[in-house]
Amino acid sequence: MPKTVLAILNQPSLDTPPHATPAAASDSAGAAPFALVDPTAPHLSILDLGATRGDGIFESISVTAGHAHAVDAHLRRFAGSARKLELPAPDLGAWRLAIEAVIAELDDAREAVVKTVMTRGVEGDPDARPTGWVYGWVSPDHRAAREDGIAVVTLDRGYRHDVEQSAPWLLTGAKTLSYAVNRAVLREAARRGADDVIFVSSDGYVLEGPTSSVLFLRGNSLLTPGTGLGILDGTTQGDLFEWARARGLETGFELLTPAQLADADAIWLVSSGRQAAPVRQLDGAAHAIDRGMSDEMNAYLLARTS
Ligand code: PLP
Repeated sequence: MPKTVLAILNQPSLDTPPHATPAAASDSAGAAPFALVDPTAPHLSILDLGATRGDGIFESISVTAGHAHAVDAHLRRFAGSARKLELPAPDLGAWRLAIEAVIAELDDAREAVVKTVMTRGVEGDPDARPTGWVYGWVSPDHRAAREDGIAVVTLDRGYRHDVEQSAPWLLTGAKTLSYAVNRAVLREAARRGADDVIFVSSDGYVLEGPTSSVLFLRGNSLLTPGTGLGILDGTTQGDLFEWARARGLETGFELLTPAQLADADAIWLVSSGRQAAPVRQLDGAAHAIDRGMSDEMNAYLLARTS
């Protein structure tokens, strides 16, 4: 089994967990802001609102050879998700220390993923304190997806593209723990013979994957559908835009339909962990992949040291 490690944030809602060994790192006041614990032992209350209602937020951060990628952007998005859910603002310094401690325990694995989770806490806790933890594991091998590409189907998400403005209480654009739908669509994709999904708004615009951003190349421009569409601001997309501009490509945002996407020169689903997966089939039709550009993107993404 791949190595998994866990750090529990010393959010006041948790007593010092059993099996805890105090972490070496400490916060400015001298107290360790988290404890490294045995990930195979139970730590979460059955009354935790993250478990009973999916009421919480998370981030998945990719790591190569001990270097976490886009941590600032992930922590910014984590804090933004907390704001949208009206959760207490996470102490980002403590979370950063816990991320680093988990990475240190992963023994320089070639590729790993570290996940931060914060929930609304334990139901009935009069102080309503959040629960927080960080865990990491060695990544599966994503080479086939990166090199040979993936088959993707478009599926209706059921919301208009302007849902983030018209119905902010639906929390689109926040990275919440409620990912049952994001997993269900993968099962639907498998039933249709595909590997992954691109969500389309109910009014017909391309949005994002269930765990990825959509990128497409048209001529000299690397584009993505946009922000404020009830989709996540992708950290991988952000870094790839920097890479593209340094390489002389234009970058930008464009609202488009699936038919317009099908006309793109190349399409990718990009995300922390799998990085850039070229789309070789869209809704059953073969799509050209740009192997050279995909290889360059993945080499750049995996070589990041921050
Ligand atoms: N959109 C959704 C819904 C996601 O879950 C993710 C990643 O988990 C992304 C986009 C891509 O974000 P990132 O590149 O920061 O991993």
